[in-house]
Amino acid sequence: MVDLQTQYQRLQKEIDEAVLGVMESTRFIGGPEVDNFAIELAEYLGTKHVIPCANGTDALQIAMMALGLKPGDEVIVPTFTYVATTEVIALLGLTPVMVDVDAETFTLDLKQVADAISPKTKAIVPVHLYGQCAEMEGLMKLANAKGIFVIEDNAQAIGSDYHFTNGKTVKAGTIGHFGCTSFFPSKNLGCFGDGGAIFTDDDNLAATAKMIASHGQSRQYVHDVVGVNSRLDAMQAAILRIKLPHLDDFISRRIAVADKYDAAFKEVTQIQTPVRNSRSSHVFHQYTLVLNGVDRDGLKTFLAQNDIPSMIYYPIPLHKQKAFALSDSDRSFSVTENLCDNVISLPIHTEMEDEQQNYIIEKVIEFINKAE
Ligand SMILES: *Cc1c(COP(=O)(O)O)cnc(C)c1O
Repeated sequence: MVDLQTQYQRLQKEIDEAVLGVMESTRFIGGPEVDNFAIELAEYLGTKHVIPCANGTDALQIAMMALGLKPGDEVIVPTFTYVATTEVIALLGLTPVMVDVDAETFTLDLKQVADAISPKTKAIVPVHLYGQCAEMEGLMKLANAKGIFVIEDNAQAIGSDYHFTNGKTVKAGTIGHFGCTSFFPSKNLGCFGDGGAIFTDDDNLAATAKMIASHGQSRQYVHDVVGVNSRLDAMQAAILRIKLPHLDDFISRRIAVADKYDAAFKEVTQIQTPVRNSRSSHVFHQYTLVLNGVDRDGLKTFLAQNDIPSMIYYPIPLHKQKAFALSDSDRSFSVTENLCDNVISLPIHTEMEDEQQNYIIEKVIEFINKAE
């Protein structure tokens, strides 16, 4: 699905030097690499504070803790997302209120969000799925009118631009009260292990999140709140400092791959290519097709037989997972249920060669024509 090896080889000299530098300095935890990465990422995003942490799941958890959410509080979240988003809500004793997504953008359906808001609703977590922002302007209006916090799950959309109707453009993850991201190796800005970060413009929220990520410590050995231990280590920060200046190039390369897939599948009626929302640029963390009347498992097997990886993100909606199952709900999840049955993601990455992609396209079309 990704080619991390070729990307590493392309940047190997700089990355090796950066990692060696950390080893020689023996500043493995905290230190200048971590501090400078936080400053550089904040600059790139146009946000005031970046708080690095151990992974994207922790970022979400720390953001929810920093907002002072309490057991029984309701948090609205899409049912079509990676498990981490909902998991931390449940882990903190909060109540996940799952809602359906929009059929074109696969992000939160605002009408469903509005219907799901109750007096107990304390936060909404939009997920910028596959690399495109949720409808943030409408969502912020809805949330601000009711004093509800917004935490953006930006694990898949770092670098994406969101355009407001007043002409203002900002980076994904900097619109809500908190933005959270992951530097998991296969993410668009990936490190060589686990990593994550929390973004905010609010000085107080930033101080609280930073304290929570560090054992609730305000000064050494002074613990004001119950926290967690969640750190980005210095080697990962050093690697991310090398990769960050390339992020826009990584994104352009992904968009070029997506453009080529789009053009190739344009005339194929059984395939819905990703719908590009005019309000948000798409950074194509995933290139995901919705199939219509195609045997998806058959296609996946056929591709695998031809040495082409493909993935289903995600086969089971969260409201149907044993861990979060809803006993009964008056809400409809028909869009998500259709997506879970019909989506398939094709390889997309920064190192795709024309020849490779032509082969993938040829095999997808071959299967669909054969099935007719
Ligand atoms: C990857 C991902 C996460 C979690 O990130 P980790 O670093 O693996 O903990 C959370 N939400 C979404 C949507 C993701 O894709």
